[in-house]
Amino acid sequence: MKNMTAPASIRLTEIKLPLDHAPLALRQAVCQRLSIRDDELISLHIFRRGYDARRKSDIQFIYTLDVVTRDNAAALARSQKNSKLALHTSITPDTEYKTIARAPDRAFKRPVVIGLGPCGLFAALNLAQMGFRPIVLERGRVVRERTKDTWGFWRKRELKVESNVQFGEGGAGTFSDGKLWSQVKDPLFHGRKVMQEMVRGGAPEEIMYVSKPHVGTFRLVKVVEFLREEIIRLGGEVRFSTQVMDLRIEGGVLRGLTTEHPERGREELEAEHVIMALGHSARDTFEMLVERGVYAEAKPFSVGFRIEHPQSLIDRVRFGPNAGNELLGAADYKLVHHAANGRSVYSFCMCPGGTVVAATSEAGRVVTNGMSQYSRNERNANAGIVVGIDPRDF
Ligand SMILES: Cc1cc2nc3c(=O)[nH]c(=O)nc-3n(C[C@H](O)[C@H](O)[C@H](O)COP(=O)(O)OP(=O)(O)OC[C@H]3O[C@@H](n4cnc5c(N)ncnc54)[C@H](O)[C@@H]3O)c2cc1C
Repeated sequence: MKNMTAPASIRLTEIKLPLDHAPLALRQAVCQRLSIRDDELISLHIFRRGYDARRKSDIQFIYTLDVVTRDNAAALARSQKNSKLALHTSITPDTEYKTIARAPDRAFKRPVVIGLGPCGLFAALNLAQMGFRPIVLERGRVVRERTKDTWGFWRKRELKVESNVQFGEGGAGTFSDGKLWSQVKDPLFHGRKVMQEMVRGGAPEEIMYVSKPHVGTFRLVKVVEFLREEIIRLGGEVRFSTQVMDLRIEGGVLRGLTTEHPERGREELEAEHVIMALGHSARDTFEMLVERGVYAEAKPFSVGFRIEHPQSLIDRVRFGPNAGNELLGAADYKLVHHAANGRSVYSFCMCPGGTVVAATSEAGRVVTNGMSQYSRNERNANAGIVVGIDPRDF
């Protein structure tokens, strides 16, 4: 600890408490871990809350906490040998992301973002926050209209090819469970930026700390509307029902785009900086890109089917006597099987208390997926059971 300046806060991991613990128990556990008195603990912030359900009769919450004490350096020095304590790094997960506004220093064409799914939404938001006034082109409709079109498909079997579960404001995950975790490594905590913006847009604050955050369909719609308004407020522009049909490339350099709108027809747009946030389903656009000489490469993917079980059964299997405890909510699961032939079969996109939905964007094709609301209180649990497919397979 020599020559060390006192850290801004101390991270404590693996604080375990029973499900029904009193709010004060968290403070007491911190004081005990750090050997400090209650009046020496200045603040306590929950960074992550998960649970350990291995012993069903004694399920425990597991906390990771960031705490500030009256003398952080002394508290750390006293607990030097404790591996469950750590200093905060200079970039902390709760760093407010302050985007640096850069006034464009030369005449430049406004950047264009194609697609308003999660990728396009956050690309455009960042560009707008940096002062670049992006133009967003989305082939589908605004999220409220899209919701009506999607329900029309589910109830009356009327598919609108440009406004459905895959296409439209919010992208493919809008009618989903709204699961917000990822297994991608994120050492600089960029994912926190996404969470912070979503909380600003009305998502529950708990998404900042629960181990498997989700928002559900209805709340997601409001968040998406908020983020779009934010892009526009900062000088960006969003054009719906505007499909990119072609690229104008001159001497190997992108010069513009051809778009199509149901009423305005074909239009040209000058563009030099384009982000293609097209998602997985725009087969026609990918074909156009390949024709224009844009490099494309086959990726491994997974294919399978969805299974359903009564949610009460999954709750009993996972939580035993604690099934139905509101603090735990509807139970999820994750299954993996490594087959003798070297392939792995695994559960994917498990939706507790959700519904299996038809999710196609093209006539004559079948796409199946799962969705749920924030409450996850539908009767059944569902999950995809999929196997990995390698480009060598096809
Ligand atoms: C029913 C369902 C449930 C899901 N649940 C989850 C979940 O809970 N959690 C999770 O993490 N993931 C979930 N996913 C997966 C997730 O939705 C995708 O990984 C994610 O949407 C990909 O984001 P994206 O922005 O790259 O593409 P997309 O969301 O697919 O967005 C692409 C956008 O580009 C537009 N577009 C395409 N071509 C053009 C063009 N030529 N011109 C103009 N616009 C164009 C499309 O209309 C679309 O809006 C779910 C997917 C589905 C279908």
